[in-house]
Amino acid sequence: MTAERLQNHIDGAWIDSDAAEVFEVTNPASGEVIGLTPLCGGDEVDAAVRAAARAYPDWRRTPVEERIQPLFRLKALLEEHAEELATIVTRENGKTLAEARGSVRRGIQMIEVACGAPTLLMGQALEDIAGGIDCESVRQPLGVFACIAPFNFPAMVPMWFFPFAVACGNTFVSKPSEQVPFSQDLVWRLIDEAGFPPGVLNLVHGGREAVDTLVEHPLVRGVSFVGSSPVAEHVYKTAAVHGKRVQALGGAKNFVIVMPDADMELTVAAIADSAFGCAGERCLAASIVLTVGDCHDEVRAGLERAMAAIEVGDGTREGVTLGPLISAAHKRKVEEFIAAGAAEGAELVLDGRETQVDGLPGGFFLGPTLFDGVTPAMSIGSDEIFGPVLCLMHTENLESALEITREQPLANASSIFTTSGKHARTFRYEIEASMAGVNIGVAAPMAFFGFGGAKGSFFGDLKAHGREAFDFFTDRKVVISRW
Ligand code: NAD
Repeated sequence: MTAERLQNHIDGAWIDSDAAEVFEVTNPASGEVIGLTPLCGGDEVDAAVRAAARAYPDWRRTPVEERIQPLFRLKALLEEHAEELATIVTRENGKTLAEARGSVRRGIQMIEVACGAPTLLMGQALEDIAGGIDCESVRQPLGVFACIAPFNFPAMVPMWFFPFAVACGNTFVSKPSEQVPFSQDLVWRLIDEAGFPPGVLNLVHGGREAVDTLVEHPLVRGVSFVGSSPVAEHVYKTAAVHGKRVQALGGAKNFVIVMPDADMELTVAAIADSAFGCAGERCLAASIVLTVGDCHDEVRAGLERAMAAIEVGDGTREGVTLGPLISAAHKRKVEEFIAAGAAEGAELVLDGRETQVDGLPGGFFLGPTLFDGVTPAMSIGSDEIFGPVLCLMHTENLESALEITREQPLANASSIFTTSGKHARTFRYEIEASMAGVNIGVAAPMAFFGFGGAKGSFFGDLKAHGREAFDFFTDRKVVISRW
């Protein structure tokens, strides 16, 4: 079987890329090459941006009620194709079908919220700011926006941005991760069917060169990035130097604090799901469990039991709860972290490196792994691992637990498990991570609330989703009138 070479979608048409270089896309469960992503150069990205810029004046003038109609149609088409899309997500990313279905649902919710644009785009007005003088503030679109996406949520992450951008009257260029191009290929086929005017939504494939062209392009007014922190910082700085708005969502090292008064059954189940769901390749995955006081042994024993029940395998198979990692290279990187943790003196309680899956010798599988006695000085105690590896730390009280989290450079999400309102209140008040969970393992983004990390997990100021999305994708103009 020859691997399919992906096309770009520019100005309403599917176009073969002339890129000389390609990225080989693999099915992580088998290691088989399933596609070739063209690594487009500057000219092809430029063509996509210019198409978006040409489409902008008419799209901007299209009444908002008309602009949201193709979004409603896209939502209906996505519902119709949700299972097909989830299957593609599992095939190119490896996560289980149940996880893929959940991510498609969360993506569709973004479109639902963006369809509220007629209300959410409204400005403000005040009569008689001086005698006979009225003042209003209106929201206006800015032009061409772009997004650059990571590999871990292939269908969902681009939907964090483009529905809001185009509902506001902007036009758009999307660059998916070269590791998972198929989900967006289907999304763009549905976009085609939904009837957006040519050039309003463009898709271009590529890697580093495509990204750099987008963030430096004079016709791009704003960039939404999601990926690792070093690249987020690079995108933020480069786009800012080129005069653009940027929201760059970066990496994570998420702490879960367990108080001795927590409901242990609920706590352990939620932590295991958070740490090992999506093979730990989630920016909201629990990475470190900080046990407080005398609950350490109980938490550890509960986690060991929960981990023994995890079934590693092909995400399309019934009963599998832990799919493969994205690539052989990423699996090697996670294995290196495990080796480093053991060498640095942490206790390797459960080692997933020997895990094999029958009939799939080429898959990138890694079993759930647990360390105890981890300290912030160890690489596994401070660096993002992005795999099914959970670390246990212990401390005496909530204040010292919070102090440990404060010393970390990354602050995407954090949770506390407790039955004490006082502890929960102190946690939500003090924790620096901007997604805070109380008795919740994954403080996940919802379409109608803002989303983005803090400290080294986020570069920018206006965050994604909800009302914040309408702030990011519009500028406010103040009009003062006397008649
Ligand atoms: P990545 O940073 O390697 O790649 C993200 C995007 O940037 C891709 O489209 C890629 O083509 C491009 N890219 C990669 N290297 C580049 C470079 N040197 N210059 C310019 N562009 C470059 O991230 P990934 O491995 O695809 O995704 C995993 C990371 O994403 C993890 O760190 C995870 O925490 C993070 N993530 C964060 C969030 C969030 O909401 N904060 C959500 C999902 C994933």
